[in-house]
Amino acid sequence: MKCMKCGMPATTFVTTTINGNTTQQYLCDECYREQQHSFYFKTRQSQPAQKDIVCPKCNTKQSQFLKTGFLGCPHCYKAFQGTIDKLLPKIQGKTTHVARQHMGAEPQESRAETLKKLNAQLYKAKMAMNYEEASKIFEKIKELDPK
Ligand SMILES: [Zn+2]
Ligand SMILES: [Zn+2]
Repeated sequence: MKCMKCGMPATTFVTTTINGNTTQQYLCDECYREQQHSFYFKTRQSQPAQKDIVCPKCNTKQSQFLKTGFLGCPHCYKAFQGTIDKLLPKIQGKTTHVARQHMGAEPQESRAETLKKLNAQLYKAKMAMNYEEASKIFEKIKELDPK
């Protein structure tokens, strides 16, 4: 048998089925490798283009999200859902860990402590007639104690 592409002695009989069409080819080593390579290369190349989804609301690309881990808007979740579902165990583990740490590490007492300190600082700043400093401290107090 001769290679159907270059006429060299064929070493491989290849059956390829693409979209239901079966092609049978006798190929030499060289041509077989080349075909495999181009087939592989084509699929690899077409993948990112196919899979890169863009959020219709904020135009965040899925590839961007995969790089940064940040969603552009709540709509992104729907747009990238398939991918996110695959990633979710990882991301969820991370966020819940951080959230728990954040909330747990800030008990009521330390907040009250900070407020006390800030109030003392505010008092000092006012006594020193440093009103710029005082207003900064006042902002901090408002953030901590929105009452
Ligand atoms: Zn050949
Ligand atoms: Zn979005």
